[in-house]
Amino acid sequence: MHHDRPPIDVVSAMPGIAWPALPSAPGAALLALLFQLEGTQWWPAERIARAQRRQLAALVEHARAEVPFYATRLPAALPDPGDAAAWEAAWRAIPVLTRDEIQAADASESMLAHRLPPGHGEYREVFTSGSTGRPVRAVRSQVWELAWSAFTMRDHLWHRRDLTGTMAVIRESGHGKAAYPDGDSQQGWGFSGAGLFESGRLVSLNVTTPADRQAEWLARQDPDYLLSHPSILVRLAAETRAAGLRLPRLRQVIAIAETLRPAARAAIEAAWGVPVIDIYSTREAGYLALQCPDHPPHVHVQSEGVRVDVEHDDGRPCAPGETGRVLVTPLHNLAMPLVRYDIGDAAEVGPPCPCGRGMPVLTRILGRRQNMLRLPGGGRRWPLLSSGDLGALVAAVPGLRQYRIVQTAIDALRLEIVAIGPLTEAEAAAAAGWARAKFGEGFAVTVQALAELPRSAAGKAEDFVCDIPDAP
Ligand SMILES: [Zn+2]
Repeated sequence: MHHDRPPIDVVSAMPGIAWPALPSAPGAALLALLFQLEGTQWWPAERIARAQRRQLAALVEHARAEVPFYATRLPAALPDPGDAAAWEAAWRAIPVLTRDEIQAADASESMLAHRLPPGHGEYREVFTSGSTGRPVRAVRSQVWELAWSAFTMRDHLWHRRDLTGTMAVIRESGHGKAAYPDGDSQQGWGFSGAGLFESGRLVSLNVTTPADRQAEWLARQDPDYLLSHPSILVRLAAETRAAGLRLPRLRQVIAIAETLRPAARAAIEAAWGVPVIDIYSTREAGYLALQCPDHPPHVHVQSEGVRVDVEHDDGRPCAPGETGRVLVTPLHNLAMPLVRYDIGDAAEVGPPCPCGRGMPVLTRILGRRQNMLRLPGGGRRWPLLSSGDLGALVAAVPGLRQYRIVQTAIDALRLEIVAIGPLTEAEAAAAAGWARAKFGEGFAVTVQALAELPRSAAGKAEDFVCDIPDAP
């Protein structure tokens, strides 16, 4: 297969050596991973699966020994990685890990490894709700972050991006950061390539900016690439069209964090005349699947970084054409191992890809849809909560198990909370204050304690629901 790639310059970290470059130690480790990923993508499916089983054996052994939660939950030993049938049966016998279990275990720190093997670096924590309204803490190691960087780079390489171009990003940036009209601007696309590759400008805007201002900001940046959520991209495409704004340099749009529906892809591609590239990733598990560079809209499971099981509710694996729940096992996070973790999505398994890559194919990903917040002054805003937002909510209500925010009127929000034990008046007041700080003082906030949250018509838990009729 012929790949026309823009040139990529590696930065030399060694004095007196300009070319070919000798990178720093972390840069060299990243290059070592990328070199292997170039080859492993073409391995036959069974060879990939066998190599993955070897890494899963190491992960399971570590988790059993170092993570209290797994001490009795995981088998003492898995069958030989070469015996596919026996190994797969033993693997599927491991219970599915739920968000509830992570929350309960993490409250007593029993999800965390007592220690990391030498060289895995420090513990790093983030909060995520994965749109289900059940915040969990994810703790990762620096080695896991290195693997994250390798898959970020693989996506750039697969889609032949010119790293010297300008990347515009509209996503959750934390309260008050990357604010309109300027947003943030930095040299280099971020930590993934930091120190290793020369890359261009990264400009970012807070996702809470109203759509008309996002469009105006975007036209001013004139980016080569744009990365955001599908629902934001669809509105932006309509905005730029309506306002007659042009993005003459734009080459690709990158969709993250939500399901990219075919209609959304078509609307974005029609508005800007460039391809949309889908990325399936989560904060707690990293990259799950990347879009095939040769056969869109297939996405390939990133088997060198994560095991993805798509199963029926009774535990049978889904065959091509069948849809089931997505269970993930990140291969390299030994800080807080997640083994057969149900991330709350459903996916359809695809046939082997005509491109020849051996990693499994997903043809559809379902169930990560969110509503938008309608503003009292007109317009809409993305209600997504950052890691910091979730941390603040957990601090306000320490017994929090699940939350849901319902917009009941143009100026009213109801924050529904499921907590361990009764919600105290002080906690309710702190939670209401949190919601006003997050969404604006223009909202009247009521807090309601519930034993259980209702589910949407599709049977999915949603963390934000706009319950007022659409404006004319
Ligand atoms: Zn493919």
